[in-house]
Amino acid sequence: MIPRAIFDADHLIFRETVRKVIARDIVPEHAGWESAGQIPPEAWRKAGAAGLLLCAVDETRGGGGGTFLHSAIVIEELARVGATGPCFALHSDVVAPYLTHFASDALRAHWLPMMADGRSPGAIAMTEPGAGSDLQAIRTRLRRQDGALRIDGNKCYISNARGAAFVIVACKDADHGGLTLVLVEKDRPGFRLGRRFDKIGCLAQDLSELFFDECEVPEANVIGVAGQGMAQVMRMLPQERLVQAVRAVAAAEAMFEWTIDHLQSREVFGKRLAAQQALAFKMAELHAEILAQRVLVDRCLELHLSDAMSAALAASVKMSSCEMQGHVADACLQMFGAAGFMRDTPIARAFVDARQARIAGGAVEIMKLIVSRELFGKRMERKTQ
Ligand SMILES: Cc1cc2nc3c(=O)[nH]c(=O)nc-3n(C[C@H](O)[C@H](O)[C@H](O)COP(=O)(O)OP(=O)(O)OC[C@H]3O[C@@H](n4cnc5c(N)ncnc54)[C@H](O)[C@@H]3O)c2cc1C
Repeated sequence: MIPRAIFDADHLIFRETVRKVIARDIVPEHAGWESAGQIPPEAWRKAGAAGLLLCAVDETRGGGGGTFLHSAIVIEELARVGATGPCFALHSDVVAPYLTHFASDALRAHWLPMMADGRSPGAIAMTEPGAGSDLQAIRTRLRRQDGALRIDGNKCYISNARGAAFVIVACKDADHGGLTLVLVEKDRPGFRLGRRFDKIGCLAQDLSELFFDECEVPEANVIGVAGQGMAQVMRMLPQERLVQAVRAVAAAEAMFEWTIDHLQSREVFGKRLAAQQALAFKMAELHAEILAQRVLVDRCLELHLSDAMSAALAASVKMSSCEMQGHVADACLQMFGAAGFMRDTPIARAFVDARQARIAGGAVEIMKLIVSRELFGKRMERKTQ
């Protein structure tokens, strides 16, 4: 009802390409990947060859030379078909930016082209058994010995851990204090993959534990300035939250469309379900909720492109869009009746898959904390002026 105004003709052509590639290379394979619990290396290479990875990274670094809008198109098109297995956004729009913004020229020159063509998927490891929402509690420790870094500790709930060629690891720096981010290649001695978590949803997305036992890494693998990791994470989190908001709205729109089709085709009590006013009114309400988030997310995309999206706004839009996604999933599933409870229906999978959005990348309660601090901090400032 409100035409989207943020995409130009080039974006529309790109979206068509992305849609075709996903229909050809991802949709037919996804159920098999769900059984395997991860996506295979060739899926990364095909996505790289088709231009779906590192869309916003310079062409000189092997990327697509586009902007975050190109990334948003990939995120939306994957969400539209319920393809939650490929961690392309994590790789392109969460991990790669740590390299483009903070890493040395040598790390960038080495890794970005291999990330762009899908040879080297990336992961990022912050969460630990005792440190999720509270990153200050990270205990994985980094110290220097004989001219190299040594890492000890463990991480959990790490997306794409098994498929990744390297992991960016947030460590407590024993020498500099604070957090230091280190790029750890998977073949470093002392690095070990732990168990793969048995999730309720996003079944094709690998989520595993990592262990570091005197893991030796060269000092050159530090990303940015030692001890400044927390500031780097804070700088990057708004984009990660926008990724989740973009995905949440596209997923909600897809669930809404599937439900419209279902209500128009299913007959109960001698008439189409769509003719039941209670259900049609419910759909009108859901439509308004999704539309409001769509307009908000598009405006946030514009602000983000001009580097004008605050941490509080990113938290707010992640919170509201992911809560909306959960609400829409529940309401839509209900309209499918028993069919909606069956694993082989897209709505059932989308319902379960949606649940992680209110937890991963900062739970909604933490988003509320960030927003409320901004609200009441501002109010206190006003009082003291
Ligand atoms: C599918 C999935 C993928 C993930 N991928 C990654 C990844 O790639 N890399 C990575 O590092 N991590 C990853 N995570 C971990 C994720 O970032 C954490 O789960 C998240 O930050 C929450 O931490 P936690 O699970 O330890 O919850 P906790 O911190 O233990 O919190 C438990 C609950 O208490 C609430 N809570 C905590 N503190 C407060 C407070 N002060 N006020 C009110 N409520 C509060 C939380 O919101 C949450 O609801 C992933 C998680 C999932 C589910």
